[in-house]
Amino acid sequence: MTHVAVIGGGYAGMAAAVELAEHRIPVTVFEAAPQLGGRARRVDYRDTALDNGLHILIGAYGETLRLIRLVNPAHASALLRLPLEWNVHREFRLAAMRLPAPLHLLGGLLRAQGLDISERLAAIRFLRALRKHDFTLPQDISVELLLKQHDQSEKLRRVLWRPLCVAALNTPSPIASAQVFLNVLRDSLNAARDASDLLLARVDLSELFPEPAASYIEQRGGAVLRSQRVTAIDPLDHGFAVETDGRRQTFSHVIGALPPHQVNAFLIGITALSDIVDTIARLHYQPIHSVWLQYPASLTLPSPMLGFTRSLIHWVFDREKLCGQRGLVGAVISGEGTHQELTQDELGLRVHQELKQRLGDLPDPLWQRVIAEKRATFSCTVGVRRPPQVTPLTNFYLAGDYTASDYPATLEAAVRSGIICARHILQQR
Ligand SMILES: Cc1cc2nc3c(=O)[nH]c(=O)nc-3n(C[C@H](O)[C@H](O)[C@H](O)COP(=O)(O)OP(=O)(O)OC[C@H]3O[C@@H](n4cnc5c(N)ncnc54)[C@H](O)[C@@H]3O)c2cc1C
Repeated sequence: MTHVAVIGGGYAGMAAAVELAEHRIPVTVFEAAPQLGGRARRVDYRDTALDNGLHILIGAYGETLRLIRLVNPAHASALLRLPLEWNVHREFRLAAMRLPAPLHLLGGLLRAQGLDISERLAAIRFLRALRKHDFTLPQDISVELLLKQHDQSEKLRRVLWRPLCVAALNTPSPIASAQVFLNVLRDSLNAARDASDLLLARVDLSELFPEPAASYIEQRGGAVLRSQRVTAIDPLDHGFAVETDGRRQTFSHVIGALPPHQVNAFLIGITALSDIVDTIARLHYQPIHSVWLQYPASLTLPSPMLGFTRSLIHWVFDREKLCGQRGLVGAVISGEGTHQELTQDELGLRVHQELKQRLGDLPDPLWQRVIAEKRATFSCTVGVRRPPQVTPLTNFYLAGDYTASDYPATLEAAVRSGIICARHILQQR
């Protein structure tokens, strides 16, 4: 009898389990943490719901948005949908126009503030050249080299393309894969107008999808076990034994939806998976620091999400505008840098001082909380190899943002990977 074990209750694992539960396939999710969501989960601190990391979704995240709509009865109010607006504080502003695609973007670029006319036209020429080749490169190169080949000025790179690259791939442009970057541009900037919309969560990231997904799965007879760390997955003649806390349960299929740096511990020694183990072992990672500052009063940022260049901070989010959390802001620092040498108190103070310099006088925060994710995403470098979801070991699958995908390590890549695993199991029946 089919009974699927999903190991890991992040977006990938929950997407796989929802897809199976929708077709009434018995499924059990094992999640090591008390909270569902993995790298996109709620973190409770001083009676305040924070997120492990501040996240941006885009309209092109078709599968993530479809599953949120399927499981979350409050989906309409859970996300703030904004027409594309790229706001780099006092340096640059690009806002899509209310025109059909691609005029919404062309018009937006023509009217972009902070670039001279030759730079605006160069950006348009760049997009037209990419479209001519269907956003496909004969061979992968770095984003920085691609920008150079298309005569994008230093200012254009600094205020538009590099921040876009880091926001999408969490990898610096000199090493980032231009092909994966173009895949994201193709599906967002080159598609229907709403594909380039920015979607910002108005609830915490566990409440957005994983928690309603758990209710959906349970209503269809599945089980979602929190605080259940899996310690071993043993292939049997027909199926698998999954061990937690000394207890063994057997399943017909296993979907390993673990983070990439943890999955190999379960795969090493399984001959059929040795290539996959090797591919995963070669991945490198990029950090993201999220710095939360609770001010005693409202701050009112110029927009719910504001970018900075020449600053330690890349983005700052106004949680009062988004979630009604008065005086709470979250700052994002992507990638490696000297900020990693600071203590959490020092980093919080630096972020507060930078915000003060740029936004004007601010009161001292009541508290601060730094969440450092050393391995926030894998490094999406030129030609990076990623393992497949359907593995050579019969009935054993891998889901996760690091598995083979057009997309970089994102919620959408994670969700799509879970769906691929589930559909493969469904097809076998
Ligand atoms: C700070 C930060 C900011 C980000 N910003 C964005 C963004 O703006 N937009 C975007 O699209 N993406 C963003 N991402 C990336 C996105 O969060 C990830 O791509 C996605 O959450 C990965 O989901 P996943 O299910 O593949 O893995 P994970 O979320 O890592 O899930 C794996 C799960 O497995 C569980 N687990 C581990 N070991 C065991 C075990 N032995 N037994 C049982 N369970 C186990 C973990 O607890 C975890 O819940 C960001 C990530 C971070 C960290």
